[in-house]
Amino acid sequence: MKLLNKLIITIIPFLPKSFVRLVASPYIAGTTNDEMIDSVLKLNNQGYDVAIDILGEHVKTEIEAERITNHYKEIYQLINQNNLSANISIKLTHIGQDLGYDVVKKNLFELLKAAKETNNFLRIDMENSPYTSETIQLYKECIKIYDKVGIVLQAYMLRSENDLEILSDENFNVRICKGIYVEDESIVFKNFYKIRENYISLVKKGLLNNSYIAIATHDEEIINHLSSWIIENNIPNSQFEFQSLHGVPIEKKLQELLSQSFKVRIYLPFGDNWYDYSIRRLKENPKMAGYILKNLFKKIFRI
Ligand SMILES: Cc1cc2nc3c(=O)[nH]c(=O)nc-3n(C[C@H](O)[C@H](O)[C@H](O)COP(=O)(O)OP(=O)(O)OC[C@H]3O[C@@H](n4cnc5c(N)ncnc54)[C@H](O)[C@@H]3O)c2cc1C
Repeated sequence: MKLLNKLIITIIPFLPKSFVRLVASPYIAGTTNDEMIDSVLKLNNQGYDVAIDILGEHVKTEIEAERITNHYKEIYQLINQNNLSANISIKLTHIGQDLGYDVVKKNLFELLKAAKETNNFLRIDMENSPYTSETIQLYKECIKIYDKVGIVLQAYMLRSENDLEILSDENFNVRICKGIYVEDESIVFKNFYKIRENYISLVKKGLLNNSYIAIATHDEEIINHLSSWIIENNIPNSQFEFQSLHGVPIEKKLQELLSQSFKVRIYLPFGDNWYDYSIRRLKENPKMAGYILKNLFKKIFRI
């Protein structure tokens, strides 16, 4: 599979854009606000909550960072105007983290103000390790002024256990994911089972500390283990939700979670930046190539 992944990564930039879009389409809710709203409404009607994300990261100018910030502010308004059951999930490098602490903090606080005005929630995604400490620092500044804000901890990071220990209390709202970036083995678990074990341990510790945990994974072993543990330990539904990326084919499991009255939120990316994002993600994480290949075969052979 590794060879195949490498081959796909090599040829994907040479494929027609329309073809890449076809392959990427299940993951992305179109490019416009209207398309995004349609997708959110469909998901809400099926019983899902949504986390909206504008595709993109690492903006290069303050003007671009401000444009993205304003777009997110507009989305908070659209959520209210259209009665959507949705919040927002952002990447700090998309609102200027590479341009300096003051730039990103200003934009982040603007978003926080918009979240507060619309009585909504803001999730700060976790990017790769050079940004981890600063992201946590900015989160700490946010929580002082508005409590409906949360971050993400990655189960592959060795430091996450300690970060959770320090941050976790009844006001802490954290998404736990495995982690998508390629990192040096000195700072992450590389072993699949070790990551899974750490994932489960972080979620349980957080829940036992009365924090709110967003369980973001498609790993059905983890989902099954944690949903049973949650029931056995009488953890209230108000303390957690499950999260999944839009387009990942685990509808049956998600439906099962909904039927148990658990909250399930779909992470829904949209926007113009879908091409660069898909290509960059592919290069960063060759595992994605495998998922794309599977989809490709499904589309071609209609299986
Ligand atoms: C809601 C949400 C938010 C996230 N936010 C962040 C973040 O802020 N920072 C970060 O580093 N990472 C984030 N991630 C990505 C995460 O870290 C993982 O890399 C990714 O979800 C795959 O890990 P997994 O837990 O699904 O387990 P895996 O073991 O990788 O996957 C389990 C199974 O799910 C299927 N699968 C997984 N991903 C896909 C896919 N994209 N397409 C098709 N099938 C798939 C595969 O068949 C696989 O066998 C997020 C993930 C989710 C669900």
